[in-house]
Amino acid sequence: MRNNREHEIREAVNKFEELLRTQIDRNENMKKLPDETKGCKIIGICDGDGIGPIITDSARRVLDVLLEGEDIEINEIKGFNIENRLETGETVPENILAEIKKCDVLLKGPTTTPSAESGTTNLESANVYLRKSLDLFANVRPVLIPEKGIDWTFFRENTEGEYALGSQGVEIKDSLAFDFKVTTQEGTKRLAKLAFEYAKANGKKKVAIVTKANIMKKTDGNFLNICKEVGKDYPEICVDSWYVDIMAANLINDDINKEFQVFILPNLYGDIITDEAAQLQGGVGTAGSANIGNGFAMFEAIHGSAPRMVEDGLTDYANPSSILRAVAMMLKHIGYSSKAILLEHALDGVVEAGINVTGLPDGNKCEEITEYILEKIK
Ligand code: NAD
Repeated sequence: MRNNREHEIREAVNKFEELLRTQIDRNENMKKLPDETKGCKIIGICDGDGIGPIITDSARRVLDVLLEGEDIEINEIKGFNIENRLETGETVPENILAEIKKCDVLLKGPTTTPSAESGTTNLESANVYLRKSLDLFANVRPVLIPEKGIDWTFFRENTEGEYALGSQGVEIKDSLAFDFKVTTQEGTKRLAKLAFEYAKANGKKKVAIVTKANIMKKTDGNFLNICKEVGKDYPEICVDSWYVDIMAANLINDDINKEFQVFILPNLYGDIITDEAAQLQGGVGTAGSANIGNGFAMFEAIHGSAPRMVEDGLTDYANPSSILRAVAMMLKHIGYSSKAILLEHALDGVVEAGINVTGLPDGNKCEEITEYILEKIK
């Protein structure tokens, strides 16, 4: 028994050493990456799982209208779904990753993550895998609530923190489990730079760095210091630091929430805080996001595949606004700003036009809002 335990400890220590070396190499490699900007000729689309196909179909129809006559190819990549992933045992099947890499940007429907609980193969999240393998280091999530004067843009670190090694923790049987959290110097620097550059280019005067640096002294402590250091290059911008718990409260404090403009957050806090922010905007079904890398970008709704909606027969009531907001972000990213603004205006007018998609039969259907948007962008 004692020998077994010693053996497990030794294996865990060896594994930790291996992980440490891989992450040091990753940090070194980031220093060598050239800045890549390329034009866009091919947009890939994957429909995903659950409500993914219905909202992605809405996005495809809108894109077809907006990009009519443009020199852009749309490549529908089939088979990126949970059934196929479980059958092949691959988080992202190799042939699908190869297809994605042939594109310049990707519009992705939500994908279900198998969990130990569900009794299926415990594969890594396809999303996390794509973000890491395509090195999409920044997750950008805008939230707008005009009636409250709220205009927030979140920059969530997308490849590190608890997610870098989330599937590679260690366990000592009947005793304990250990996961790892990683902050690299280069990974944090590039995210902070993108956020400050965005603030500068868009006339934003405030950047809030959100961590739990009082508790996670190494990872969050370094994240905070590196972001502050980058901020020194932007003297016109006021930099504030906040702990994530009080920020969760601040977002719903109407006395101060409109003061915030740009946020920089490590991965896990960014994941949670942006869902809260989206809920304030009208629900996760209203929020889109961009996953930005060096030379490649992926656009998607912020929510998941909503399996409960599917089980309850509510698929037709899914709100496509989330993925349509992501389409607008994608169009801006590839240089079609006026088409993006046209789509944003159409989406902004939905409530006033009496269309209310609640995700339930008391609201409008995906098809109805899609028809309305198509009419507006013609
Ligand atoms: P979820 O985001 O899928 O859905 C939670 C609830 O939000 C739904 O039950 C529904 O009430 C509402 N909702 C979500 N999208 C909506 C829409 N477009 N219109 C109306 N209502 C909407 O969260 P979950 O149930 O925790 O996750 C389901 C699966 O999705 C999990 O396997 C999870 O890992 C995965 N996931 C994937 C992504 C991604 O692919 N980017 C993101 C988050 C979660």
